[in-house]
Amino acid sequence: MRKSFYLTIGIFFTVIFLFVFSVRYFENANMEKLKNTSGYSIVLDNGEEITLSKVSDKAIEYRKVNLNLWSINLVLGFAIPIIFVISGFGKKLSDYLGKVSNNYIIQLALFFIIYVTISNLITFPLDYYRSFVHRHNFGLSNQSFYKWITDYLKNFGLNNLVTSAFIWVPYFIIIKSPKRWWLYNGILFIPFLMFVTFISPTYIDPLFNKYTSIQDKELQRGIEHQLSMAGIGDSKVYQVNKSVDTKEMNAYMTGVFGSKRIVLWDTTINNLTRGETLSITAHEIAHYVMGHVWKSIVLGGLLFILVLYLVNKTILWILFHWGGVLGVTKIHHLAFMPMMILVINIFLFLSNPITNTFSRYVERQADIYAIEMTKDNSSVITSTIKLHENSLVLPRASKIYEIWYYSHPSYYDRVELAKEYKPWRENKPLKYIK
Ligand SMILES: [Zn+2]
Repeated sequence: MRKSFYLTIGIFFTVIFLFVFSVRYFENANMEKLKNTSGYSIVLDNGEEITLSKVSDKAIEYRKVNLNLWSINLVLGFAIPIIFVISGFGKKLSDYLGKVSNNYIIQLALFFIIYVTISNLITFPLDYYRSFVHRHNFGLSNQSFYKWITDYLKNFGLNNLVTSAFIWVPYFIIIKSPKRWWLYNGILFIPFLMFVTFISPTYIDPLFNKYTSIQDKELQRGIEHQLSMAGIGDSKVYQVNKSVDTKEMNAYMTGVFGSKRIVLWDTTINNLTRGETLSITAHEIAHYVMGHVWKSIVLGGLLFILVLYLVNKTILWILFHWGGVLGVTKIHHLAFMPMMILVINIFLFLSNPITNTFSRYVERQADIYAIEMTKDNSSVITSTIKLHENSLVLPRASKIYEIWYYSHPSYYDRVELAKEYKPWRENKPLKYIK
């Protein structure tokens, strides 16, 4: 039994390494192709010609380092829980916590917090390099070390301390309903997601950055006009001082009910013309009026039920075959938590293509909506170029990487759409704005 356990782990990591190897192979081939592709020019509606320059060496270099960081990160994400299991540390820790407290809720919280602390200590050097050093090296960040570390600690606290305080809830459901826990926990996840989406903008986001009203009043009026056109005039509009963190640009729509809002990074307002910024707010408005916020919550919940169903099947199989090796007999045993985390990670990793295919689909809808609302293809084109070039995004990714990880259509696909989509020119009906 011990033998088959180690053999399965060996096979699993072989598959992961093969995945990493093929993604790297196709991404490198994609970069070679891009290096040999010359730029092209686009004629805007006003007759002005803009050139999409050949992909820069800097962008290629940035992507290469990112690819290395991604490879290590992916392997570590699976290796850390496995180390807990095979080293026997998880088992020892659970025995020890059994002596510290008789209370299962406290044992669970302590086990989880010790697990995530150790896991974060292992990945800390990589996290620091990836989100601080690397971004500074390529001139994408303005962040001071103090801001980085305080954001890091706040994130750690919010994600892990809060989870440890509530981790007894899913475990309580597992104990009460050993057969259907996956369904009840999955269903519970939907109102939880809704709650987080509702409170995040008001209570969590301001812990990281400062939110103010839009300073450029003419821009503000433009956005308000768009909002009332879309029938959501009650939405709020904010700008956030992301310039303390980054040189990149972005905007997003968040919140539900009374907390719904468009948030523009100040870097976006500072670097784009009003027309370009309005093409971005039109895209964000689309996400709300086309129900993308709601659809993501519901689909996320349904997908999570499926993931938990598969997790349950897998976990029961593991318990049946290797419970003896691992020294556990029940799903809710503390020592089994790293294995649960591992199996959840595996199925979430496998569900990536589903989530991202849905995301690319709605992002394309939002792009079309933005063009229809502004009828300003030129601004959509130039804002798309500025956003992507400024973040050193490559024009295209390899198919496998795009399917697995791209939440948006590729940079050039978005420019292509903005260049071609003008149904009003041929008196054709609009797709989304009636
Ligand atoms: Zn979007």
